[in-house]
Amino acid sequence: MKYDENNVFAKILRGEIPCKKIYEDNFILSFYDINPQKKIHALVIPKGKYIDLDDFSEKASSDEILGLLKGLRIVAQKLGISTDKGKGYRILSNISEDGGQEVPHLHFHLFGGEKIGKMVQ
Ligand code: AMP
Repeated sequence: MKYDENNVFAKILRGEIPCKKIYEDNFILSFYDINPQKKIHALVIPKGKYIDLDDFSEKASSDEILGLLKGLRIVAQKLGISTDKGKGYRILSNISEDGGQEVPHLHFHLFGGEKIGKMVQ
């Protein structure tokens, strides 16, 4: 499958549509989900054009992989839900249609700010 340049997160990365930004660096952008499912619901996306985690694992450079993994923790810290603050959170990434993915640009959901509950409902 080819990367869709017109997906909503590609447009956010190009600054064509706004987002409520939490954090940005060379590798990632993080912003609040427009339709929050928990008290805190953030999204973390890589700046590179990757469809999903499968695509990213196959094609991303070591720097991009490291930048994304480290970035997830930085965002959790910024949101005040990291373990060094005595809190916790859940990270989830939907992959393709069976995984329930709607936006075809790799993204991680970060849920926190309350007890997140059952893993799959
Ligand atoms: P997924 O089902 O894993 O692809 O999740 C896509 C997520 O993107 C959903 O939780 C949507 O609420 C969220 N979303 C869609 N459009 C926007 C937007 N413009 N800004 C922030 N979040 C969005």
